[in-house]
Amino acid sequence: MVYEQAQELKEVGAGLVLAPNAVRLVRRLGALDALLDRAVPLDVGWEFRRWADGRVLSAEDLAGSCERLYGERTYTVHRADLLSAISSAVPTGAVQLGRRCTAISIHGDSAVLTFTDGTSVEADVVIGADGVHSTVRGVVTEPSPATYSGMSAFRALVPADQAPDFARRRAQTLWIGPDHHLVHYPVSGGNAVNLVAFAPAGDFTVESWSATATVEEFLAEFAGWDPRLQDLIRQAGTPGRWALLDREPLDRWSRGPVTLLGDAAHPMFPFFAQGAAQSIEDAAVLARCLADDPAAPARALQRYQSLRIGRTTRLQEISHARAHVNHLPDGPEQEARDAALAAADPLVQSGWIYAYDPDTAEAGAAV
Ligand SMILES: Cc1cc2nc3c(=O)[nH]c(=O)nc-3n(C[C@H](O)[C@H](O)[C@H](O)COP(=O)(O)OP(=O)(O)OC[C@H]3O[C@@H](n4cnc5c(N)ncnc54)[C@H](O)[C@@H]3O)c2cc1C
Repeated sequence: MVYEQAQELKEVGAGLVLAPNAVRLVRRLGALDALLDRAVPLDVGWEFRRWADGRVLSAEDLAGSCERLYGERTYTVHRADLLSAISSAVPTGAVQLGRRCTAISIHGDSAVLTFTDGTSVEADVVIGADGVHSTVRGVVTEPSPATYSGMSAFRALVPADQAPDFARRRAQTLWIGPDHHLVHYPVSGGNAVNLVAFAPAGDFTVESWSATATVEEFLAEFAGWDPRLQDLIRQAGTPGRWALLDREPLDRWSRGPVTLLGDAAHPMFPFFAQGAAQSIEDAAVLARCLADDPAAPARALQRYQSLRIGRTTRLQEISHARAHVNHLPDGPEQEARDAALAAADPLVQSGWIYAYDPDTAEAGAAV
């Protein structure tokens, strides 16, 4: 049973990149066909451009090579479309809405969950998939609040007919520059362009998908950048803005019959676009571990943790490091970065991310 605090299943108006490692699992779930109508297959990925003039520093050829190397393409999706496709694969009645869990206690081989309405449920296995502010996390490890990263993100969906041509290409483009970077790609069958931009947070500490900013504030952050970008930002309507949170990797996710999954276990900066993908991988590995060892769930949860923690820790660490690398001021370090970007084939370099198959992953091989 899934207990969800929200009163209805809905997602914010924002996009996601679904790399082959996630697409493979959505397909296995039987949910890919429901998504393909609205997903956009990318021709180009990780197209890094210089902030001042848009010079391309590096790019992945996704049209020709991605499927050949990894058996799947890379898509962009609207979050609501992904949620709806995955929900369609879940049996009716398996999700209870309006059920906010406030406490968990472990009693030998089982655990008891308590909800805001005062009701409680006993369970053989509890999976805390409750996001970066996880309540369940405090049962598995020392409770601690997430900290502010010092960065904030602006977010907007621009209708395609208002977006400049360069932003409508089937490309995931990243403009990188001093203290900032901006990402855009088409979503919703090409009807909209998803725009997300990272900037210093200053004293802005609101972490909410519903907080907003103004186009003027958004433009001010990117003053002096390539004028084509300014044209795109001008179409951002009322952009969302939220402060990015940070957490250190954990060294354990499971205690007795309780474990963690997704951002509850390993929130990461979105700079490798892998947070949701890692949640989906977690779910596939966890299902396999529980199916392989139904008589001993606590042992299955330990195996799940050992299969997953190395890979997600590595992704947390490299995503963290990219905050520095993407935001370098012009100078020798930036020139060395640009030379390294030009020399690498990112599609091959990220093979360990994209080729991952939970059905064959074993501890140690996961990274
Ligand atoms: C700007 C940005 C861009 C991103 N881009 C990408 C991308 O391109 N590709 C990608 O793979 N990932 C991306 N991510 C990361 C991705 O959004 C997250 O990693 C992903 O949403 C985590 O999923 P989750 O299910 O673990 O947690 P969440 O999405 O946070 O879901 C947690 C759920 O638990 C519920 N909940 C919380 N507490 C309770 C409680 N006490 N009781 C009951 N229910 C509760 C919440 O209501 C929510 O529904 C991005 C993130 C950001 C911020």
